[in-house]
Amino acid sequence: MRLLIMGPPGAGKGTQAEALVVKYNIPHISTGDIFRSALREGTPLGLEAKEYMDRGQLVPDDLVVSIVVDKLESLGSGSGFLLDGFPRTLPQAEALDGRLKDLGGGLDAVINIEVPPQVIVERLTGRRVCRQCSSTYHLKHNPSQVRGICDTCGGELYQRDDDSLETVQERLDVYNRQTQPLIKHYQEQGLLLSVDGTKEIPAVLEAITAALKQKEE
Ligand code: ADP
Ligand code: ADP
Ligand code: ZN
Repeated sequence: MRLLIMGPPGAGKGTQAEALVVKYNIPHISTGDIFRSALREGTPLGLEAKEYMDRGQLVPDDLVVSIVVDKLESLGSGSGFLLDGFPRTLPQAEALDGRLKDLGGGLDAVINIEVPPQVIVERLTGRRVCRQCSSTYHLKHNPSQVRGICDTCGGELYQRDDDSLETVQERLDVYNRQTQPLIKHYQEQGLLLSVDGTKEIPAVLEAITAALKQKEE
C-alpha cells in the first residue's frame, strides 16, 4: 500500500499514521520527524531546517524533496509506504509524481483529514511528543499513562517549540496558502479520501480504514 496522509497542522496525521503503519505493515515517512531527529543529532540538515520550523515556515522544496527521494529509493521500488507531512507544496507534489513514475508505481490513495481552524489551536498547544520515539500524545484527548512519560518506550515527553500559540497561527496561514491547493491536485487524480478529523481518535481511524477498503473494492 502506497499512502499519503495530509491535513492542516494538528489534524491528527501523525496519530493516525502510527496506527496505519502497523495495520498495513508499511514504513512511516514523516518529514517533520526526520527534521526533528536531524536537529537532535545536531546535523547541518537539522540546523538548517530549524531556522524555518521555528518560524512556522516551510523548509525549501529542494531540500525536502531530496530527502524523501533518497528515502523512497532506499526502500526499493516494490515497497509500500505512508508519507506524512509530505508533500506540502505543488512543486513537492509534482516532484513526487515524477519520482513514483520512475520507480514504477503511483499512490494508492491520499487521506485528507479535515479539521476546522478553531479545533487546531487547542490540539497543538496540548500536544506532547516523545523525545525518543516521536509518539504523540495530548494532555486532554490522548494522555500518557504516567504524566510526562511515553507509554511505548518510557522516553520523556516534551512540547515542540513550534506548538506555541504565535507559531501555530503562522503555520495555519502557510497551510492555507501553500498546502491546501494539493487537495485539488489529488482530487483530479481520483486519489483523495477525505475524512472528518473532529471525531475521536479511534473513530477517525475507522473512517480511514473504511474509506481505504471501499476504494480497493
Ligand atoms: P505538523 O504537525 O504541523 O503537521 P510537521 O511535524 O509535519 O508538522 O512539520 C513541522 C515543520 O517541519 C513544518 O512546519 C515545516 O517547517 C517542516 N516541514 C515538515 N515537512 C515539510 C515539507 N514537506 N516541506 C517543507 N517543510 C516541512
Ligand atoms: P499532525 O501530525 O496532523 O500535526 P497529531 O497527530 O500530532 O497531528 O495530532 C495533534 C494533537 O492532537 C496531538 O496532541 C494528538 O494527540 C491530538 N489528536 C490527534 N487526533 C485527535 C482526535 N481525533 N481528537 C482529539 N485529539 C486528537
Ligand atoms: Zn517514546
